[in-house]
Amino acid sequence: MIPIARPLLGKEEIDAVTEVLSSGMIAQGPKVEEFELAFSEYTGCEYAAAVNSGTAALHIALLAHDIGKEDEVITSPFTFIATANSILYTGAKPVFADIEPDTYNIDPEKIKEKINPKTKAIMPVHLYGQSADMKAIMEIAEDHKLVVIEDACQAHGAECLGKKAGSFGTGAFSFYPTKNMTTSEGGIITTSDREIAEKSKMIRAHGSRVRYLHEMLGFNLRMTDIAAAIGLAQLEKLDGFNASRQKNAAMLSEGLKSISGIVPATTREGYTHVFHQYTIRAQNRDKLADFLKEKGIGTGVHYPIPIHKQPYYMELGYKDSLPVSEKAAEEVLSLPVHPALSRDDVLKVIKEVKEFYASA
Ligand SMILES: *Cc1c(COP(=O)(O)O)cnc(C)c1O
Repeated sequence: MIPIARPLLGKEEIDAVTEVLSSGMIAQGPKVEEFELAFSEYTGCEYAAAVNSGTAALHIALLAHDIGKEDEVITSPFTFIATANSILYTGAKPVFADIEPDTYNIDPEKIKEKINPKTKAIMPVHLYGQSADMKAIMEIAEDHKLVVIEDACQAHGAECLGKKAGSFGTGAFSFYPTKNMTTSEGGIITTSDREIAEKSKMIRAHGSRVRYLHEMLGFNLRMTDIAAAIGLAQLEKLDGFNASRQKNAAMLSEGLKSISGIVPATTREGYTHVFHQYTIRAQNRDKLADFLKEKGIGTGVHYPIPIHKQPYYMELGYKDSLPVSEKAAEEVLSLPVHPALSRDDVLKVIKEVKEFYASA
C-alpha cells in the first residue's frame, strides 16, 4: 500500500527523545525554548510560542489579538474544520469568503465583499502548502485596519514573493504527524510583535508569566520538551522533506498533464509551494479514488464538505452559497506526494491514474 501520508522519523528523533526522557524534564522546559528560537528564525519572525496543537495556536493567536464576542473574522470555507472552530471558541463569528478556483485559497476580492464594521480580522489558510495571495490580503488588512492571522498549518517553509508563510501577520502552524514536519501533536504561533508573543505564552499557561501569579484567563495548552525535541530534529530535515515533496509534485504534474479528465496542481508564479498535499481536480473523483485504493494507492479528499455546509454550522444558521468551494469539494482528490515515496511509487501513481481514464 502507498499511503497518503507517513511521518519520517529516524535515529535523530529517537535520540533526541531519549535525551529528554533521561533528563527527567519532560514537560515544557529548555527544549521548548530552543525550538521556539529555531522555528522563529526559520520563518523570519522575531518570536514564537510553542503549544500543543495547531488548533491551540489558532485559538491563542485570536485571543492574543483580543478577538471575541461581537467580532467577525473572515476566513476560507474550504479548509480543515479547526480553522473556523478556533474562531467560534473565542465567541467571534467566522464569515466565509469563497476561494480561487486554481489555488483553492481564499479570494481577496471575495474578502472585500464581506468586510463590515464588525470585521476584526482576516484568517487566510495556506492550503495544501501554497501561500494565499498575501500581497493583496495585507493591503486589504491595512486599508481596513484588520488583524491578519495566517493558518499556516499546512505551509511550513512555503513562500509568497520571497517571504515565508506565517511571517506576514501572526502565524499558526501545526505539527500533527501528517504535516510537512511533526512533533507528534503540537503547534506554534509565530510573530514579530513582542506583545502578541508574550500574551500567547501567558494564554497557553493559565495567564501567568510568573508562577502562581495569574494576570488573565488562560488555559493549559503547553508543548512538552519531548515534542520540542522531535521538532528540533524535524526542523533540521524540513527543507529536505520539502524538496522531496516538490520533486514528487513535479513528476506528478509532468506525468498527469496530458490526461483529459483531470486538472493537475498548480503553483503560482513567485510562490514556493511545499506540497503538503498534491491535489488534482478529477472527473469521476470518487470512482478514481476507489480504483486507486484497489491498486494499493491511498488518496484523500481535502475537503469533502465546505465548512458552511457542515451539520454544526448549518445548525448555527449558515446559509451561504459559496459555489467555487462547493464545486471543489465535489472534484478534488489528493494523491500521495510525501517524502517517504520512492520514484517507483510516484510512477505507479501516474500509471494507475492514466489507466483509470484510459478505461473510463
Ligand atoms: C492540521 C490543520 C489544523 C489543526 O492542526 P492540529 O494540530 O491538528 O490541531 C488547522 N488548520 C489546518 C488548515 C490544518 O491543516
